[in-house]
Amino acid sequence: MKILKFGGTSVGSAARIKGLLDIVNPSERQIVVLSAVAGTTNALVEISQAYLVGKKDEAKQLIKQHKDKYESLIKELFTTDQGYKNGKDLIDYHFDFIGSLSNEHFTPIEEKVVLAQGELISTALFHFHLNEIGVPSVLLPALDFMKIDEDNEPMVSYIGEKLNALLAKYPDNTLFITQGFICRNSFGEIDNLRRGGSDYTASLIGAAIQADEVQIWTDIDGMHNNDPRVVKNTTPIAHLSFNEAAELAYFGAKILHPQSVFPAQKYNVPVRVLNTMDPKAAGTLISKDGAQKGIIRAIAAKDNITAIHIHSSRMLLAYGFLRKVFEIFERYKTPIDMITTSEVAVSLSIDDTTHLADIIKEVEDFGTVSADENQTIVCVVGDFGQNTHGYAARVLDAVKHLPIRMISYGGSDYNVSILMDSEYKTEALRSLHNRLF
Ligand code: ADP
Ligand code: ASP
Ligand code: MG
Repeated sequence: MKILKFGGTSVGSAARIKGLLDIVNPSERQIVVLSAVAGTTNALVEISQAYLVGKKDEAKQLIKQHKDKYESLIKELFTTDQGYKNGKDLIDYHFDFIGSLSNEHFTPIEEKVVLAQGELISTALFHFHLNEIGVPSVLLPALDFMKIDEDNEPMVSYIGEKLNALLAKYPDNTLFITQGFICRNSFGEIDNLRRGGSDYTASLIGAAIQADEVQIWTDIDGMHNNDPRVVKNTTPIAHLSFNEAAELAYFGAKILHPQSVFPAQKYNVPVRVLNTMDPKAAGTLISKDGAQKGIIRAIAAKDNITAIHIHSSRMLLAYGFLRKVFEIFERYKTPIDMITTSEVAVSLSIDDTTHLADIIKEVEDFGTVSADENQTIVCVVGDFGQNTHGYAARVLDAVKHLPIRMISYGGSDYNVSILMDSEYKTEALRSLHNRLF
């Protein structure tokens, strides 16, 4: 079984939805995971924001605008009266439902329900399209098997059990379709895997049912060696290790959801990143043996980082100090990305600032604390193992004209990370690119 995930642009128009069959071979056993049509989730976020602040008229207008786009899409997608009727009933149902929420008390719970509509629509449209042209397919509701626990962690064994049971009901079918991004939480409510989460869905499904391969079909020819939105002349990387790809995704390479490599890595399912607009391009293979000795592979950057500096003379020659500090972050379920220490001070970085004020208040018991927002982690991935030398110097040399806040080296064999003020990110990415590649 293969898992093929198509992102928003890959299902972004009637022509693209029809074009999926150039890539999907209906006679091969596969699960096709779809994102919402490009722009839809952003629109649903806007509608929810309007509802949350009580701007019902604005929400209504946004709903109308967005529904109009789908009206044009279905006119182009379906060629028979019945096909068109299926499409029309579908979008009427979903947009009427979103509209009906204007009468409800709108909370973040309703917001998640609204955000789920995009994937529910795109998968049903593809399924109806396949029906219309006589290609058999089964639509598997992700809300029946994708689940996260009380810590928002996906429940891989549960997903595997439920999904295998569903698949077993259709022994003669080969083509299955399901929604990316959406899931249920521990209360059974509709939830999601965070923005860009369809990649994560594909990898979780691949891991849960031990698929042969996960394919991430997107709008670019693989994982590039730097952010193509910021730097010119980036190039695709043919083969990466799970560790390298996980590091790049976690540290900001938008092409993959930050968590999406971990499930595939844990269950050793190879991931290919491929281009829907150029299906013959080689793309990127991510697998166990993808690392290359002695070279720097790629650069990524993660924004919206907050740096926290704790200065405490109590740290001098003391043990147990860091544990006490880490326990505070643990209690507030706030992951730490980078950390550096000296005799009397520790600096660390976080990206989830939900509990920042509480954390600072508690850490202040240990010493003087300061926090700086608008920081960026620039992450360079490659062979930084103990047997290599000179690479860290090359990285630092490339950013020597920029003020840097923290450096992390030696945490793993394949990454050097640098924290800096976000205003220097573009220059850092360009300078590193020019000097390292
Ligand atoms: P999808 O909708 O298919 O999930 P995304 O927009 O989430 O697509 O991801 C693809 C985009 O990621 C590319 O168009 C590119 O602009 C951006 N991107 C950022 N960093 C990288 C990188 N290192 N390699 C390739 N693409 C990247
Ligand atoms: N549609 C969702 C989003 O835009 C999930 C995804 O595209 O991966 O974030
Ligand atoms: Mg994406």
